[in-house]
Amino acid sequence: MTKANSNKLRIIPFGGLGEIGRNMMVLEYADDIIVIDVGLMFPKEEMLGVDLVIPDFTYLIEHKKKLRAVFLTHGHEDHVGALPYFLKEFSCPVYSTRLTDGLIKVKLREHKLLKNSDLHVVEPGDVIEAGVFSVEFFQVAHSIPDACGLIIGTPFGTIVHTGDFKIDHTPVMDQHTDLARLGQVGAEGCLLLLADSTYAEEPGHTPSEQAVGEEIKRLMVNTEGRVIVATFASLISRVQQVIDAAVFTGRKVFVTGRSMINNVAMARELGYLEMPEGTIVGVDEMKRTPDAQMAIITTGSQGEPTSALTRMANGTHRHLAITEGDTIIVSATAIPGNETAVYRNVDNLLRLGAKVFRGGLSNVHVRGHAGAEELKIIQSLVQPDYFVPVHGEYRHMVAHARLAESVGVPPGNAFIMTDGDVLEIDEFEARRAGEIPASFVYIDGASIGEVDEYILRDRAHLSTDGVVVVMVAVDRRTGRLTRDVDILSRGFLDLEENAKLRKDAAEAVAKALSGKDHRAEIGEINARVRDALGKFLYDETRQRPMVMPLTIEV
Ligand SMILES: [Zn+2]
Ligand SMILES: [Zn+2]
Repeated sequence: MTKANSNKLRIIPFGGLGEIGRNMMVLEYADDIIVIDVGLMFPKEEMLGVDLVIPDFTYLIEHKKKLRAVFLTHGHEDHVGALPYFLKEFSCPVYSTRLTDGLIKVKLREHKLLKNSDLHVVEPGDVIEAGVFSVEFFQVAHSIPDACGLIIGTPFGTIVHTGDFKIDHTPVMDQHTDLARLGQVGAEGCLLLLADSTYAEEPGHTPSEQAVGEEIKRLMVNTEGRVIVATFASLISRVQQVIDAAVFTGRKVFVTGRSMINNVAMARELGYLEMPEGTIVGVDEMKRTPDAQMAIITTGSQGEPTSALTRMANGTHRHLAITEGDTIIVSATAIPGNETAVYRNVDNLLRLGAKVFRGGLSNVHVRGHAGAEELKIIQSLVQPDYFVPVHGEYRHMVAHARLAESVGVPPGNAFIMTDGDVLEIDEFEARRAGEIPASFVYIDGASIGEVDEYILRDRAHLSTDGVVVVMVAVDRRTGRLTRDVDILSRGFLDLEENAKLRKDAAEAVAKALSGKDHRAEIGEINARVRDALGKFLYDETRQRPMVMPLTIEV
């Protein structure tokens, strides 16, 4: 057997398989590695105090020399958000389409990484050589312009990665999923298909963006008041639809919310938003303009606490006070986990007298991902030998694998993988080949990876039971208390109010430290204080606050 034949093609997902977010896929063959997407995930509710979750780069660090390039499918955070953390560790060329490039440049500038980054702008149809791999971008329809999938040449055949996509025959910016190109690949033979599973459980076909544009226009025609539309800042095509509807109904547009202002400015600069001169107005002109001639585009479709829509709902927005006669359109659906915050905003906006239309109940939003029938179309066009569902929770991927088998993927050739699982392919077969650590890496403020599950457990403990701080001063030679024990609490029974409990608690601590003269390590004193006070408080209150001894030696 020749050397080339003994090498295997390895497919290793480091994120996005088993959860929604932090998408990252690695392809490895002999001395070459390429990376597809480097996304982040927003923390789940139980990840207290964590700002972001990114993929685990340990394996890549160990194989740094093999890294040839990064390919980004589109500009959503779950595909590009971890790039700054990635580029702090690795230097390699990064390929993406124009809008994606614009979005990552903003990020890299914030992280002061732009100057040393090797960024390349590509167009659909471009082919990039990276080691043994050749990577071609093809256009897909999605909820952000310039989204692409990848057609990847490998020593054992062609891999198609759809990225995030849907099939829309009347998209806003004329960016269709390139079914013709996929048909060609299918005809030539496709080794492996990796396809978006986010909505694999949804039967049918995602409605066209066109329906949303028409509904927003209808709402603007039928109201005399202001129309305020909240959506994702990255959903540039939706912003265009709102602007089109505003222009159609003779309205000016005011933009609010930091990320919306930034993205609209960037999209205008790059030519992704079209409107007559003077459509977008500043605060002063907005205040002078009659309500019937105003439309407002805002962040906050997910109920984010500091977003502009939340501030309007709470009556704390600097320039906008909601009144009766206002119409609010939430052009989004609540991402799981955000429902409470979204509904709280809706309630508050209704209380202020506004009318509210929102995705899910009205036709003001369509999803950006393919439903089951669209996924079947892709399978039929590409007809892969092997299939791996990507981008989804476990149930989405299982549904997608079953769907693939129902339209022709041979039984046993659809592999349900989760982060860290390795799939090896050679000229004879594809098979599972163990796993590689691919844990969540938590970003907490400026620190990367310094938060682990123990810290999260402590935070959960603090948030449910509170904390009691015990200040103890001991003589460094005798270990005896040199003054009274002082106890403070937060998020636990108010000890200031509860003088008796506080006094008894202090006595319990003092007792634990009494006894004959001794010299003790601070660690041991702390342990004794923690045990004694923990037991005392549990006996008295049936609660277990976190006890934090602060011992000083004098
Ligand atoms: Zn996306
Ligand atoms: Zn995505």
